[in-house]
Amino acid sequence: MAEEKYDFIIIGTGAGGGTLLHKLAPTGKRILVLERGGFLPREKENWDTVQVFQKDRYHTDEEWKDHKGRSFHPGTGYWVGGNTKVYGAALFRLREKDFGLVEHSGGVSPAWPISYKELEPYYTQAEKLYGVRGRRQMDRTEPKASEEYPFGPIKHEPRIQEIHNLLEKKGYNPFYIPLGVKLHDDMLESSKCIRCDTCDGFPCLVHAKSDADVDCVRPNMTMQNVELRTHAKVECLVTDESGKRVETVVYSKDGEKHAVKGNTVVISCGAVNSAALLLASANDKHPDGLANSSGMVGRNFMKHNNGAILGISSKPNPTVFQKTMAVNDFYWGDDEFKYPMGHVQLLGKVNKDMLAADAPAFAPGLVLDKMASHSVDWWITGEDLPDPENRVTLKDGKIHLHYTDNNLKGFDRLMKKWCDILKEIECADYIVPHSLYFRKKIPLQAVGHQCGTARFGEDPKTSVLDKNCRTHDVENLYVVDGSFFPSSGAVNPSLTIMANALRVGEHLAKS
Ligand SMILES: Cc1cc2nc3c(=O)[nH]c(=O)nc-3n(C[C@H](O)[C@H](O)[C@H](O)COP(=O)(O)OP(=O)(O)OC[C@H]3O[C@@H](n4cnc5c(N)ncnc54)[C@H](O)[C@@H]3O)c2cc1C
Ligand code: SF4
Repeated sequence: MAEEKYDFIIIGTGAGGGTLLHKLAPTGKRILVLERGGFLPREKENWDTVQVFQKDRYHTDEEWKDHKGRSFHPGTGYWVGGNTKVYGAALFRLREKDFGLVEHSGGVSPAWPISYKELEPYYTQAEKLYGVRGRRQMDRTEPKASEEYPFGPIKHEPRIQEIHNLLEKKGYNPFYIPLGVKLHDDMLESSKCIRCDTCDGFPCLVHAKSDADVDCVRPNMTMQNVELRTHAKVECLVTDESGKRVETVVYSKDGEKHAVKGNTVVISCGAVNSAALLLASANDKHPDGLANSSGMVGRNFMKHNNGAILGISSKPNPTVFQKTMAVNDFYWGDDEFKYPMGHVQLLGKVNKDMLAADAPAFAPGLVLDKMASHSVDWWITGEDLPDPENRVTLKDGKIHLHYTDNNLKGFDRLMKKWCDILKEIECADYIVPHSLYFRKKIPLQAVGHQCGTARFGEDPKTSVLDKNCRTHDVENLYVVDGSFFPSSGAVNPSLTIMANALRVGEHLAKS
């Protein structure tokens, strides 16, 4: 195995790793990026629902196991840009209180070792980098921001505007979802987005979605000091004799093993794979896994309590780009329930082929088509709490994921409450809980919002990373994907991962 030496080795190019590369590339330091996937192909299938939703074209065909040893295919993909290639690009800040200790009906959501104020400047930078479009001061739970959104919001289509107005009339506070989409309503030449109906969950054929590949990796590929190796899966990290520094990164490419050396190594493989990599790198000095003296590596895995609701009424819904509105009025609870409940947002427009992916085989296409053409489709998120028993382990080199639902009371209330509100505003004569996501049937493979498996904190006994996301145990090893979250909040995680990667990048650039 030939050996090469770099200043930084970044492993993974998703929301964390891609954003970190953007921050470090201008330093001129020698950077090697190792990514197990390739560039996601631009092809007609990008926007084909059958391919994407029924055939899982962009998911890995790798198998993971649940706690009973049953195999499943995780809903995750390995590409340059990671899962931002298929995300809905809803780019939210956590709420200010999410950074402190919060009492939930199901337990306690622990405090972060940094405050919202400390992360705020990096949220602003991340919003600029990913060109977020939104409008401040409509969402009453939104934390104070030092600057306006870089661009104005993506406007609602008529049916959604109607619902927005109905909700406002009832005293609720709907607002525009902050979105990373390169759409200009005045249709300037620079507007790449065609405002299509295959965005949320799909790759963007015209590269108009702001993602870690398009906005961070590609623009830095021409830099002399940056080298990207795709289809390079990191297998383990080898420390020096003291166990205090990672000396070598071992990866496989084209069936061969390679070794490279870096002064600083940053893992950003996604919360499940980063934990798996640390566990796979156990050695004499780190018998339970690298940087795992706390025993916390792989533990406290979170993925949100998620549900979807289809509100079907006699009124057709011809909306094409639907993911424009959200409601946070119940984020912290309501008059009858004093604990957090969660967040409501529109989904991308559901069509018959998406419904068919979950519907029983006998459901006729015509019925599904009728349902989809009249439904308004919602995504509900509740916070799940860190539980050390919800964890990633490795057995015979295979990922095992153990997860038991928790903190469901507030989430269940929100699901019911939102159904009642939709009926109240006559937006739903029938409410159909989307079976794939309906709480009782949430499949384990829905790991899109994975986080928490290497949490950061002050105490090396209870956390894996310090405040700067450096491992407590290994002095030149960092983790910058969603693993660092001590709690999951109830909004989508990517902007927080991106902002944190910029914060850690600033620290690394000075080192
Ligand atoms: C369908 C869907 C919709 C979503 N919508 C939203 C949304 O609207 N808003 C939002 O905020 N979030 C959304 N998310 C979640 C969001 O995509 C993730 O939170 C985010 O991408 C996580 O970033 P990360 O850096 O932790 O991991 P990832 O983005 O998954 O990146 C991990 C990277 O590491 C690489 N990798 C893994 N293992 C190795 C290895 N051993 N060696 C080398 N490389 C490796 C992977 O290929 C990948 O490139 C969505 C997710 C899905 C699946
Ligand atoms: S709506 Fe715009 S950003 Fe989304 S997939 Fe379509 S063209 Fe791309």
